[in-house]
Amino acid sequence: MVRISILLGVVPLLASASPVPGDDFDLSPRATFVDCLSGKNVPVVLQSSANFGQLASAYNLRLRPRPIVVTIPATTTHVSDTVKCAKQYRLKVSARGGGHSYSAQGLGGADGSVVVDLQNFHDVKYDSTTTLAEVGGGARLGNIARKLYDQGRRGIPHGTCPAVGMGHPSLGGFGISSRNWGLMVDQIVQVQVVTADGSLKIAKKNYNSDLFWALKGAAPSFGIITRFWFKTYAVPENIVNYSYRFQPGSVSSAVDSFMKIQEFAKKAPKELGLGVSLWGSGVNFELSGAYYGKSIDDFNRLFKPLLSSLPAPTSSTLDSRGWINTLLRFAGSGTLSVPETGYNEHTTFYAKSLVTSSRAPIERKGMENFFNYAAREGPNAANQGLPWFVIINLYGGGNSAITNPDLLKESSYGHRDTLWNFQFYTTLSGGLTPQGNTAAINFLTGFDGVVRRSGDFSYVNYADPTYSRWWAQKLYYGKQLTQLSLVKKKWDRDQVFWYPQSIDPAK
Ligand SMILES: Cc1cc2nc3c(=O)[nH]c(=O)nc-3n(C[C@H](O)[C@H](O)[C@H](O)COP(=O)(O)OP(=O)(O)OC[C@H]3O[C@@H](n4cnc5c(N)ncnc54)[C@H](O)[C@@H]3O)c2cc1C
Repeated sequence: MVRISILLGVVPLLASASPVPGDDFDLSPRATFVDCLSGKNVPVVLQSSANFGQLASAYNLRLRPRPIVVTIPATTTHVSDTVKCAKQYRLKVSARGGGHSYSAQGLGGADGSVVVDLQNFHDVKYDSTTTLAEVGGGARLGNIARKLYDQGRRGIPHGTCPAVGMGHPSLGGFGISSRNWGLMVDQIVQVQVVTADGSLKIAKKNYNSDLFWALKGAAPSFGIITRFWFKTYAVPENIVNYSYRFQPGSVSSAVDSFMKIQEFAKKAPKELGLGVSLWGSGVNFELSGAYYGKSIDDFNRLFKPLLSSLPAPTSSTLDSRGWINTLLRFAGSGTLSVPETGYNEHTTFYAKSLVTSSRAPIERKGMENFFNYAAREGPNAANQGLPWFVIINLYGGGNSAITNPDLLKESSYGHRDTLWNFQFYTTLSGGLTPQGNTAAINFLTGFDGVVRRSGDFSYVNYADPTYSRWWAQKLYYGKQLTQLSLVKKKWDRDQVFWYPQSIDPAK
């Protein structure tokens, strides 16, 4: 149950508040911010409340920004009222969805935010007449998948982790069916959103269209989406699931293999989901994914020429399964269902991403650097408490649904010409220590650095808090940034929705 505590906690609340950029740090008005919330009956959890610690912890415990308060709205009016009070007292606001941001953006990414926890907005309804799904702004991917399947054998393309929330489609959202159907953001046809003035609005293609475009790819900088309407798909029940593991034995053999995979990937049909992953031991790698074509025979015909050009796999799996079992396989879990409220799972990690363009496939030299680094530094890192993986996901190539350039006009998501998205990830297995933290950042910064070229980008859903504000915006949005800044100026000039890497309004 939400505890509404008004008087307790005001003092620590003031002590940790930090100002909106450009604001004078004047404590006195903030004392009445909580009064403003209580006057409107907004459920609020203060720093002194017993459950504040849990509500103010991100999934990634490497980052611990301290919010000024957490509100837990039960209605859209509560969301509006929170934003209105925050605006009045010049505080910055962040929505918290599933809490899985790599940079704890759901907690504002820095001390002093007003956090709007959307856990009560978790409804998922499939409408068989429109074939749209109506989904609350605080729902989680696993529950969405399970409910859409149960309600109508429908699905949406999205990422693998069942507990990830609606930050995912707000910023992109890649999954095993994305080359076939697109990113999760591409499925949004309408939203209900609270904007920076606290009003509740509908945005869609022909209504508040500039806002809609910006929300689709950069929502945390523009509003709090309380409800999404998504396109859905009839889900196949015979999806080919495959994985092949290789021990190439040397860097040059691993590089040869990757270059062959890249040649194949450039023309791969959209029905194929494909990723190359490696971990701990250096140059050994796995090629795996799911195929939405007709059958295993069909898949074999497509894949055989590639496989016969690679070293013999040391192990493999190949089977056909239904939609839910495919999602479970990639989730590495026995269930897709996640607690709708009170979720409290955590880990401590650092991650980076590298997005490469189809116009500039990775050169042999880049992959030599990459596998040399993996062979040289990877085992050391793993032995020193930094178990790691890199997954190189295929976004583009062939007729991929992600990379249609016309989609730049449909959403602000930045990178429609992506070929590969590299994710570099390490867990701090000993928890957060200054040495472990520095070692994790140095290890992955080195990994990314040996393969990154000047024209490469990064993926906003794998937010890297070591980037400066300016550099992050460039890497995440590329050419879309100019238009995003103009829309920010129109809809949130005062930066109510501010976090360390949020979009700046145009001057
Ligand atoms: C274990 C794990 C697996 C992942 N797998 C994938 C994957 O397969 N593919 C992929 O693309 N990404 C993946 N991600 C990254 C994930 O998509 C992002 O971290 C995502 O932004 C998390 O969303 P969230 O709602 O859980 O997090 P939060 O921290 O709650 O939110 C992230 C950002 O979105 C904003 N936000 C959340 N909800 C709303 C809303 N309703 N309206 C407006 N803004 C909102 C928040 O303010 C914050 O800025 C994974 C992350 C983890 C930790």
